[in-house]
Amino acid sequence: MTVPTYPVENTAPSPAPAAARAHLLHDGSVEQYRRAIADGVDRVARRVATVDRPVTGITPAELAPLVDRVDLNLPLGDAGAALDELEDVYLRDAVWFHHPRYLAHLNCPVAIPALLGEAVLTAVNSSLDTWDQSAGATLIERRLIDWTAERIGLGPSADGVFTSGGSQSNLQALLLAREEACVDAVGPAARAELLPRLRVLTSAAGHFSVQKSAKLLGLAPDAVIAVPTDARRRIRASAVRDEIARCRQAGLVVMAVVATAGTTDFGSIDPLTELAGICAATGVWLHVDAAYGCGLLISPTRRHLLDGIDRADSVTVDFHKSFFQPVSSSALLVRDRRALRHATYHADYLNPARMVEQRIPNQVDKSLQTTRRFDALKLWLTLRVMGPHALGALFDEVVDRAADAWQLVSEDPRFEVVTRSELSTVVFRYLPTGPGRDLADAANLHAREALAASGLAVVAGTRVDGRHFLKFTLLNPATTVEDVGYVLDLIATHAGRYVHDHVTADLTCPVG
Ligand SMILES: *Cc1c(COP(=O)(O)O)cnc(C)c1O
Repeated sequence: MTVPTYPVENTAPSPAPAAARAHLLHDGSVEQYRRAIADGVDRVARRVATVDRPVTGITPAELAPLVDRVDLNLPLGDAGAALDELEDVYLRDAVWFHHPRYLAHLNCPVAIPALLGEAVLTAVNSSLDTWDQSAGATLIERRLIDWTAERIGLGPSADGVFTSGGSQSNLQALLLAREEACVDAVGPAARAELLPRLRVLTSAAGHFSVQKSAKLLGLAPDAVIAVPTDARRRIRASAVRDEIARCRQAGLVVMAVVATAGTTDFGSIDPLTELAGICAATGVWLHVDAAYGCGLLISPTRRHLLDGIDRADSVTVDFHKSFFQPVSSSALLVRDRRALRHATYHADYLNPARMVEQRIPNQVDKSLQTTRRFDALKLWLTLRVMGPHALGALFDEVVDRAADAWQLVSEDPRFEVVTRSELSTVVFRYLPTGPGRDLADAANLHAREALAASGLAVVAGTRVDGRHFLKFTLLNPATTVEDVGYVLDLIATHAGRYVHDHVTADLTCPVG
């Protein structure tokens, strides 16, 4: 085989066409930048102003051919044409979280100051790994970390870092907890012996990212122990105490208790003060997953629901859930900044150890990521424009609305409702009566699908004690009780029709 040789000398690289350079943001292209962004903003604004339902109900089978048809090697040349195309492949059938009848998951309508932040941060394109790629951005992120830690009450040694989301925050928290549990296991043999014995206790209603993290962290397949919950779907503190004792007796090491401040389905808040007491007495790391409930940190009326969170060793907050921030915006906070050393590595090219001595603030020393978005800017501008009180009042409003919605469903004989959420979810199901009683699961599944297909509303589904339930997650202050009532009627109509059709079918087509 001969190695091809390329003429190198005397061959100037062919310059990119001038038009290509005009697509990069620089001093000569600011007009193009202004126009393109303004055009994009205008398209989105028009959609937001005119959509009459949260989804169109389009199916993947209908949409996929439109996306597949696009030839990525054949550019359209200008932003306007690309935006025209985008209308077809994305904007027309997008899911609109600002619509009052989007009631499914933890997606919020977004604060405009945060959108402004998004536009600024992506254009400047700071990267939060090192000071020399971010300058003021690093200081702004640090101020917001301090502000959040202060709201939680973590004390003077607290620190933290912005992350891509609650899942990454939980992963990092458990990494720190694992390393703290392993500090005395010096040497590979001792570590290898200890790792399979590590256990994590969390609520049966906790988030699946805890399991995923355990897997990523090389823990045993049965490392995460789901502790039973009480009638309000909060972890039973007494069961946590018993489980820690049982683990110790069995030669296992509980490396962390993960409390949930706002379970994804039920909005239930684990008894944080009791858990903090148990963890303090047994020397176990307490992580509080407040991905959902963190909005209470700024609530003018409900901050007390998080009492005890100040005693956590680490806390996950998702600003992109209850702080009305666009995805992504999340953070991990720790009580003792020294714990973050477990995520520290020094690379000669990036953050050599001498920079620590020179007190150069490099956030990469605390992060699982390297190149990292300046997501903090969105929260910064939101706080500078609106302030925490107004933002917290919006979250309070959706919590109040959810209480009204719960009341409405619980008084409606067509439905059965599960525990009243401390946050903004309502878990319920349509209950057929008479001969259709056995069709409850199928009828609720059908109602959810039929509703989404109609595009008139989107609700979530979940399983409770093995049965199919429906779920409202309210995060939009624009959602009224009338909206909720309207959606309940739609669900009852779809589910009722399903039951009617299937009972009738059973009666008219007897088996055998
Ligand atoms: C949403 C959620 C997570 C995961 O957060 P992401 O930002 O989606 O990664 C973790 N825990 C709880 C309780 C959540 O509700």
